[in-house]
Amino acid sequence: MYAEVCVNTPLSRQVGLSLGADREAGLGGRSFTYAVPERLAGRLERGHLVWVPFRSRRLQAVVLELTDTAPAFDTLEIEALVWAQPVLTPTQLQLARWVSAYYLAPLIEALRLMLPVRITQRGRTVFVRTREPAPSDLPRGQAELLAQIADGEGTWAEVSAGLRVTQKADLEPLIALRLVAREVAFASSPPRPKVDRRVRLLADAPAIARALPALGRTSIEADILLWLAGREDPALPLAELCAALGCTPSRARELSAHGCFALVPARTLVRRRASGGELPRLLEKLAGARKQADALAVLPEHLVDEAGFRAEHGVAGTIMNRLVAQGLAERAEEPARVSLTLDRAAVAGEVVRLRGAEKHRQVLEALQRHEGPPLIGCVYADTDATLDTLRDLQAAGLIALEAEVTWRDPLAGREFKPDQPPALTADQQRAWAAILDGIGRAEPGPATLLFGVTGSGKTEIYLRGIAEVLRCGRQAVVLVPEIALTPQTVQRFAARFPGKVTVWHSELSDGERFDVWRRVRSGHPAAQVVVGSRSALFLPFPELGLIVVDEEHESTYKQERTPRYHARRAAIELGRISAIPVLLGSATPALETYYAARSGAIQLLTLPQRVGSRGQRTGNGEPGTNEQPVPYSLFPTPYSLVPDLPGVEIVDMRQELRVGNRTMFSRSLAVALREVLARQQQAILYLNRRGSASFVLCRDCGHVEACPRCAVPLTYHGAGQVLICHHCNRRYPVPAICPKCESRRIRYFGTGTETVKQAFPSARTLRWDRDVTGAKGAHEAILSRFAEREADILIGTQMIAKGLDLPRVTLVGVIAADTGLFLPDFRAGERTFQLLTQVAGRAGRGDLAGRVIVQTYRPDHYAIVAASHHDFEGFYRQEMAFRREQGYPPIRRLARILVSDTQAAKAQAGAGRAAELLKGELARLALPETDLIGPAPCFFSQGRGLYRWQVIVRSPDPARLLSGLPMEIGWRVDVDPVDLL
Ligand code: ADP
Ligand code: ZN
Ligand code: ZN
Repeated sequence: MYAEVCVNTPLSRQVGLSLGADREAGLGGRSFTYAVPERLAGRLERGHLVWVPFRSRRLQAVVLELTDTAPAFDTLEIEALVWAQPVLTPTQLQLARWVSAYYLAPLIEALRLMLPVRITQRGRTVFVRTREPAPSDLPRGQAELLAQIADGEGTWAEVSAGLRVTQKADLEPLIALRLVAREVAFASSPPRPKVDRRVRLLADAPAIARALPALGRTSIEADILLWLAGREDPALPLAELCAALGCTPSRARELSAHGCFALVPARTLVRRRASGGELPRLLEKLAGARKQADALAVLPEHLVDEAGFRAEHGVAGTIMNRLVAQGLAERAEEPARVSLTLDRAAVAGEVVRLRGAEKHRQVLEALQRHEGPPLIGCVYADTDATLDTLRDLQAAGLIALEAEVTWRDPLAGREFKPDQPPALTADQQRAWAAILDGIGRAEPGPATLLFGVTGSGKTEIYLRGIAEVLRCGRQAVVLVPEIALTPQTVQRFAARFPGKVTVWHSELSDGERFDVWRRVRSGHPAAQVVVGSRSALFLPFPELGLIVVDEEHESTYKQERTPRYHARRAAIELGRISAIPVLLGSATPALETYYAARSGAIQLLTLPQRVGSRGQRTGNGEPGTNEQPVPYSLFPTPYSLVPDLPGVEIVDMRQELRVGNRTMFSRSLAVALREVLARQQQAILYLNRRGSASFVLCRDCGHVEACPRCAVPLTYHGAGQVLICHHCNRRYPVPAICPKCESRRIRYFGTGTETVKQAFPSARTLRWDRDVTGAKGAHEAILSRFAEREADILIGTQMIAKGLDLPRVTLVGVIAADTGLFLPDFRAGERTFQLLTQVAGRAGRGDLAGRVIVQTYRPDHYAIVAASHHDFEGFYRQEMAFRREQGYPPIRRLARILVSDTQAAKAQAGAGRAAELLKGELARLALPETDLIGPAPCFFSQGRGLYRWQVIVRSPDPARLLSGLPMEIGWRVDVDPVDLL
């Protein structure tokens, strides 16, 4: 058996190799063939990630194909699996091949879009479930372990982490039965499954009180205190204590200095033997021995300390000896004794202190306070305990340390109000019928464009579609732009499908991404619907049933690094491969999409009115509520006829200038803002930062200098005082007077954010744009602050147009609608139209009536006029005329070669070489309707220390021309670019 693999090396695209090499090499592109060793035969599948020897290194590779036919050359053997299960599904392999061929990207780059995690190299032993069926009579421990390994291969620590009782003894029998295989994985572990460790209290209060004194390190002093406290006698012989505790008398003496117990040394006692009655007679007998008589007279009949007695009464030892010798006094030896000086009640606390077991006590106390077993981290936080402390407690049988594998859930901790689907409006019902039909069919036909104004109920249709595929046991993916910034979107999906929705975007941690990936791959119930950014398309869905691309016109769907795919295009391809419906939604479709819809390549469904507007009723079949059936119309109602969209007022800034208003606020906008502030409502001001201060504009007539050849605005370069065309690189002088109206007020143009604050010092403003901060949740925080009315005016850039729902916003002001219009990019008009339409759609979404004021120097520009009337059709007609005339997409397609270099001259020379090579190819292939634009410096000609030049290919099939181009270092190719700047 042999495997064809794609090796994961950054050098898989070699310099000098032509772009089409991957494509022309057929299956797998630059692939290599390896022999499959016996031990992997039968287990190896397409999509497996394996280790292969490669030019004296060991590299990872993706298995593309398996074959029994031996190649004509010698082959090396595959070394091992990186992962026990295939990392890529057959569908993914197919999609990767398409991405590679269509976008002229190395296959491995396309495959990398789908590999779950960054993979580095480190060897480790993993345990893997084989295909062997499990016998039914496995002992319980083995069965549990086997289930754990089947759930996910891993190291011993990983596979055993989720088990309550873990015994390595259970493993060997499983290996002997060939149910589990031991393998070396050379990759570092992918982010590990997360394990929650909890601490469970096993003992009750009396048991804890009993056990506590024994915890901690050994302390002979503590032992002594406990021993003494355990006796009735107040004082006990030291010898007995030493015998019981194995301690030396001298050590005990030392410790007694601490004051918790006292040590009475050994001593001699003495007493008078005669009774009181006999005493006078005896004293008489001793009349000759005066000192003896005196001593006997004061010596008590009970035992007293001899040394003390003698000192007190000045009795010499010889005198006492004589008394004893005559039998008048008696001596007794008393051994050394110990006694507790500490209060008995304080002993337990002192013992804990002496043993250093305060931590243990803290833990036990904390656990007694806590309801249920807390996370180990909480215990650490609440106490001074370390893992050793917990181990002691575990060894004493007081607590159990438990581990359970948990999912890192990006939506964890969020609550979603479950939501019931509303009855559809008549428009929605028409669209829904067509979509339902597509879902039911085996061959779903072309993708569908759901074209409806903001608030027309598109999302409701997506929700229905998802419900339908879930009902059939399949998954759905919903692509949304800027998902990290629009939590409201996720909420709608999560509310409709509680417990089934997860998210996928760049703000997830590696661990979260890994877990979402694993869940999706296993068809986990909690990952049936993925709402995500463009790369969610590349998750390993076992049975995808529906792809939704919301706001399909958004440029964030294009990836601006290799492979430079567009998610809308890739979604359509994935839909074709999987034979499932693809639903594109927008209020302002991309021209390409709408063009395809008009031509029939995409099915067009329209929702021309906002939900709840006049004439909209639910079409739920109840008598009297249904409208007359309306024949399905290919061409939607022009939005200008929609009564309830916010009114858009266009302000001519040239006129403002004429009456002497030189501020950035027209009189109209200034008045409106003041009113909003007075009424304590909210306003959004939209600033377009991109492209400011870059073009020459006549402030009297609005004329902008453009390249006569390329029909794109010229860019002002202050340094050389020249105007440059960023498409063809022609240079023009900066005019002193307007060529159209001869005004002298012609100058470069710009706006700033700070000016807003200066003009309305009393207003509370909040700024929101892409640059705000990269911190997780920062955008959400700004939005919720605005929603909670912590500010009156939200000032923002492009971001503001994105699906916001802010009911208290009654005014939207667009400061300078033109700024984006005069960028040297053929999509400038389309972008401006989209942005203005979407911005305008923001106002009046709540109960309050909304108002939109658009300031412009070009009130007559069709993009601005059409946007102000919500007139997509009108815009489309005029924009298409321009595209047709210029041969821009969607009439023909574009591709660009980007050449960057640290030296300006080299970047220019490189672009020149690329253009020459392409010219040669062009002549050789004689491709129809194909030409080159440039080379020219990019509009953003410098960045990150690199100079950028570009050559643009305009052709019905740019890949044909480009695939023969031998690439150099620093060259990039961008097929279907969305951005020519
Ligand atoms: P879009 O996605 O086109 O912007 P939405 O689906 O968000 O539109 O709908 C706009 C609003 O109308 C939402 O608040 C939604 O809950 C509501 N809505 C949508 N369809 C219906 C319906 N059939 N009946 C009642 N309300 C609806
Ligand atoms: Zn002019
Ligand atoms: Zn030009």
